[in-house]
Amino acid sequence: MKTLHTEALLLRSVDVGESDRILHLLTPRTGRLTVVAKGARRSKKRFPGTLDFFNHLRVQVERRRPTSMPQLQLARLERTFDGIRRESRRFALGCYLLELLDRLSPEGGRAGDLKALFDFALGSLTLLDETRPDAALRTLLELQALDALGLRPELGRCVRCGTPIGAARSRGSSGSGGQSSAAALGFHIADGGPVCCAEPGEMLLPVHAGTLRALEGGLRLGLPQLGRLSLGGQALAEARALVGRFLRFHVGIELRSEAFLEERLTPAGAGGRLAHRDSNADSNARRA
Ligand SMILES: [Zn+2]
Repeated sequence: MKTLHTEALLLRSVDVGESDRILHLLTPRTGRLTVVAKGARRSKKRFPGTLDFFNHLRVQVERRRPTSMPQLQLARLERTFDGIRRESRRFALGCYLLELLDRLSPEGGRAGDLKALFDFALGSLTLLDETRPDAALRTLLELQALDALGLRPELGRCVRCGTPIGAARSRGSSGSGGQSSAAALGFHIADGGPVCCAEPGEMLLPVHAGTLRALEGGLRLGLPQLGRLSLGGQALAEARALVGRFLRFHVGIELRSEAFLEERLTPAGAGGRLAHRDSNADSNARRA
């Protein structure tokens, strides 16, 4: 790369020295791209109000030598997502998604995959700009993020023997609402899918077939429609546990913005952390 012109979203910003900033960008051409913005802190003329989170940018980046860090030359504002900055739930989930993308986005890859990842990031900010999120929307956005990052869990068949889940175990279940009577399946976090033929004593997360089907439905929806999918109380609690643990397995650490997000998406007066999620799930189910 010598000169790159592309769209970009800011994922992370670190001040260095007296006046510079190191920026992690997400672009549809490169995936995650680390650049230095010389003079970004001293000169307001060079990047006037553009190098903020929740801005859709058009940037020009130059790399003078193959070994040096690319330099941000220009950043023009395409669109700003003010609706996210103004409301604490949207802001908390927006920060969390940017941090997640910063941790998991690849540097380089297939052109189609990088474009799809950028489209997901831009689409999810557009959605949050207009929608106040709840625990269900958070879960579905996390699942779509995993899909866009190439880390989609298996939801339809056993990851070991390939048996379709609906055929094997879901008799008596009729969608996410009527699943209480059906036996729970086991989801293997490290293997990334349900297991119908587990060895005795294996650690599996209990989940009903209806919950897996609801999550598959969430993956088929476009981002603008995501807020319309309602998850029932049990389905939401199971989906939250499954997607949360699967994501944690891939991220490897607790994201810095996660505690803030949990606080924002939790009704006042709820108890401990796991209880938080349950009571949140129940209140969302009542609203849904
Ligand atoms: Zn199996």
